[in-house]
Amino acid sequence: MQNPNTLWIKNPLAALSPVYAGGVVVKDGKIAELVAAGRQPALPVAATFDAREHVLLPGLINAHHHFYQTLTRAHPVALNKELFSWLVSLYPVWAKLHPEMVAVSTQLALSELLLSGCTTASDHHYLFPRGLEDAIDIQLAQAEKLGVRVHLTRGSMSLGQDQGGLPPQSTVQSEATILADSERLIRRYHSAEPGAMSRVALAPCSPFSVSTELMKASSELASRHGVQLHTHLAETHDETEFCLKMFGMRPVDYLESVGWLNSRVWLAHGIHFNEEEVRRLGKAGVGIAHCPSSNMLLASGQCPTLDLEAAGCPVGIGVDGSASNDCSNMILEVRQALLLQRLRYGARRITHQKVLEWATRGSAACLGRDDIGELAIGKQADLALFKLDEIQFAGAGDPLAALLLCGAHRADRMMVAGKWRVIDGAICNLDIEALKSRQRELAAKLL
Ligand SMILES: [Zn+2]
Repeated sequence: MQNPNTLWIKNPLAALSPVYAGGVVVKDGKIAELVAAGRQPALPVAATFDAREHVLLPGLINAHHHFYQTLTRAHPVALNKELFSWLVSLYPVWAKLHPEMVAVSTQLALSELLLSGCTTASDHHYLFPRGLEDAIDIQLAQAEKLGVRVHLTRGSMSLGQDQGGLPPQSTVQSEATILADSERLIRRYHSAEPGAMSRVALAPCSPFSVSTELMKASSELASRHGVQLHTHLAETHDETEFCLKMFGMRPVDYLESVGWLNSRVWLAHGIHFNEEEVRRLGKAGVGIAHCPSSNMLLASGQCPTLDLEAAGCPVGIGVDGSASNDCSNMILEVRQALLLQRLRYGARRITHQKVLEWATRGSAACLGRDDIGELAIGKQADLALFKLDEIQFAGAGDPLAALLLCGAHRADRMMVAGKWRVIDGAICNLDIEALKSRQRELAAKLL
């Protein structure tokens, strides 16, 4: 009985909240009951899963990523560079992407995420060179195969080098093309229903790669269809200088001028804000996807997470990349957030529970969802279960803290919407060796 209708995930070794120390009951893809320590479920259960060796978490939620970049990890042209020169080196490589590359890299990135505790993944795909107009359709088909919940953002670049932007001309599209395709994708794939497996958001790439008109038009389109908006913002000092030179204002002022200072928006990175900008972002309820590995790798800086949160911003976590991480491991990214943020705010304020909250409820809030990100009655049955049987856990005391402090990197069991998607550390119905091998072949073509 692989996916029985009523299943008690029984007596976990540890859980994110003591409220379900005795486990949870899953029914019809949702959480039907929380079981207190030492108690039995009140509901009749058809089966039990003995979780005495597992730490139970709500499925982690990745708030920012670029799946295709798994093809250009540790790419020789991009090594040891900061954001702008890193991007300029990689744009011509990425311009060679073709449909199979998008399909395989999406499947690989989603597999890597799923195996590391992630049940909902957001992706920001902004490359649509000739022949790759269906990139988001391709991604969606792969997500359906794996059964991972996705928020696919229709990225865009319209400001090429000829217009003073950063990307090469061959990688940008016209505003009319971008907006028409954005609307097509929303109509085709966006589900506003609770429990949705796929949602679409609109995501002009960054201030230095799209026009002011496209920022405004995307905001209007998003509000007409009730979808979220996403972009990169305040990642580097170079970007602040670009905005001052190009638009005569700082990034947050620019954001406000194009109608983007509202709770429909979540931003990747959000590092270089002044105090007054933090207050404005918080008041507007703008979400921030903190991407610690990428921020350290590209030497971009530290996101002022607790200040943003205190001001009213939801804070989530994203692996970003994977050409600036260069892995897509969700639970390791939570550890990175713990370590990096402790440098800024100290150990007493940045606890293991705090960063796990960011990667679950915080990321869900960034994506505009309240049906995922926590284990509570009526929420989706998205679960991550980790065993502490690898060498780095030998000698660990507190099992929940050990996940982050000792460096958990692989989940043993994963459930999405009540269905097991990972069993004994392996993704169900996937030949992962064949996938890795094809990814390596395709990546070699980009070297
Ligand atoms: Zn990014």
